[in-house]
Amino acid sequence: MKKITLTLIKADIGGYVGHSASHPEIIALAREELLRSNLLIDSYVTACGDDLQLIMTHWEGVGNEDIHKLAWDVFLKCAEKAREMKLYGAGQDLLKTSFSGNLRGMGPGVAEMSFEERKSEPVLIFMADKTEPGAWNLPLYKIFADPFNTPGLIIDPKMHEGFAFEVLDVMEDKSAMLKCPEHLYDLLVLIGSPGRYVIKNVYKNKPKMIAATSTTSRLSLIAGRYVGKDDPALIVRAQHGLPAVGEILEAFSFPHLVEGWMRGSHNGPLMPVRVKDAHPARFDGPPRVMCLGFQIRNGKLGVPRDMFDDPSFDLARQKANEVAEFLRRHGPFEPHRLSSDVMEYTTLPQILKELEHKFKASEHKRIKQKLKRLELEKKVKKSHAFK
Ligand SMILES: [Mg+2]
Repeated sequence: MKKITLTLIKADIGGYVGHSASHPEIIALAREELLRSNLLIDSYVTACGDDLQLIMTHWEGVGNEDIHKLAWDVFLKCAEKAREMKLYGAGQDLLKTSFSGNLRGMGPGVAEMSFEERKSEPVLIFMADKTEPGAWNLPLYKIFADPFNTPGLIIDPKMHEGFAFEVLDVMEDKSAMLKCPEHLYDLLVLIGSPGRYVIKNVYKNKPKMIAATSTTSRLSLIAGRYVGKDDPALIVRAQHGLPAVGEILEAFSFPHLVEGWMRGSHNGPLMPVRVKDAHPARFDGPPRVMCLGFQIRNGKLGVPRDMFDDPSFDLARQKANEVAEFLRRHGPFEPHRLSSDVMEYTTLPQILKELEHKFKASEHKRIKQKLKRLELEKKVKKSHAFK
């Protein structure tokens, strides 16, 4: 059977108002542009906060140049309109001026997978704003490795062989495959540092098949300077030997702390929200995640369901607000503000540099420096004496 490919490509091409949302006219323009293409089986355009999300199905496979070029051209057109409309940070995620075959390293986030469509193919697509790809580590672990979240790992014979996690080291640009439950502890050693180790893909062990994939590029490192957090997206397949829809959603009932929020420099709770609430507000946050559910049929996406539009997530939202309030009271203090090694990629080092002249060495350090100088002078005199 021919495999279909589900591709999500996203970029912040301009905020309305500030960093809070995407302008409806930009979303409409992207929709029109994708409808015009004859490369796609189907498409759906939405936005999470200031990020424009292009969801596409096609027969062209993963990493296809034509599909990536199509998305790039849509973003360019939208960025042009965003500039005309004077939207905030227009074109901010488009780091290169021309397309060179693949979107990797060019700014937009890409998550895509090819699969044979099953008898029934439920897929959940998570999109987050004001956070980073490592934000998926905790929920992905819970969905695919934690029986307290996913009882199917224990009671469903089709899931009992577990799942393998492909973890990317975003600093070194290399990856490792860790099979669970065998390598569960090793997996946690890595993914507990979500700023560095990010789950890129999850595979079912037996029979091997793709279960989840995420966007992983780190904009701050690509550009060599801070250009905004690379708000992530995640595709998860459900049911028939994979976790049930409810098991996947369950992982988001705990609004865990993620990096991002204001200026991409703060820790905050990841709040699961309805699509209509996917617009960060307080302190440009708190970070939020929305989820669209698709029942794919012959490659057609159909009408999506807004999966967090349900009272069973009210408690998580309330908890997120309480945690947000608690953290905000810390103002610019860690651990609300990110630790200084992470702040290296922000504008903070500029301020620190300007402060350098205010520092004087301590008395102890000055004496040590003087002794070192005297020692050196002695050595020089000695060497002259030999000449
Ligand atoms: Mg954003």
